[in-house]
Amino acid sequence: MYLKHMLPHQLREAVERGDPLLVPAGCIETHGPHMAIGHDTIIVEEICARVGKRLDAVISPPFDFGPTGYALGGPEDGTIDPDYDAFGSYVKSILRNFLEMGFGRVYVMIMHQGMEAPLALAFKKAAAELSFEMVLAEGKPRGWWADARMSREARLFGRIQVHPMILPAASPPAGGDHAGYNETSFLLATRPELVDQGRLDENAPWYCRQDEDRNSWTANAAHGQAMVEAVVDAWVELLQR
Ligand SMILES: [Zn+2]
Repeated sequence: MYLKHMLPHQLREAVERGDPLLVPAGCIETHGPHMAIGHDTIIVEEICARVGKRLDAVISPPFDFGPTGYALGGPEDGTIDPDYDAFGSYVKSILRNFLEMGFGRVYVMIMHQGMEAPLALAFKKAAAELSFEMVLAEGKPRGWWADARMSREARLFGRIQVHPMILPAASPPAGGDHAGYNETSFLLATRPELVDQGRLDENAPWYCRQDEDRNSWTANAAHGQAMVEAVVDAWVELLQR
């Protein structure tokens, strides 16, 4: 169920059931001449939607404007790069509200630049800071770590988890790249209307042709579907653990 669509009583019921909150996070970044520039957000939204059909979960509106570092072009190519401090503050304020809503399990899903890049780190830093700050906000005394009971509570710090969309259990068959064989296949399997392989020609950027056999031209929905199924299965397993 989508957070945006919920009535207040439905939100309370979801929290009481202990439903996880899935948070899609991505960016606007050029993905070659043949793919929608929102791919990295769109694909995590599509995976969240499929996971949400398999179990009770609430799906947050996406964080669309994550950091890109202009690694693959600028605004004229379809890439946006926000102020990182502003983005980090925004992320932290919204995550705090998710916890205050009462969600006990918040899962941020990322398919952009890896888990040590600015996008993932913004969420991980915010989650870590909130873990400590909210202990004090609950009125616990300074020195609370020494209390064995509190240390147990401290283990509940993992209320916000940040994961790559492709969990280890899904790889292979799922893999990453930039607008190449894997990402083009992901989009062909989920939102084919947002791909136009006819736009690929000899001027296509280097990342479209990283492999002679597996590239943007040979990407296909069947491979995409196999990856999607593996990714969704891995997420369902993680959430049911
Ligand atoms: Zn991408």
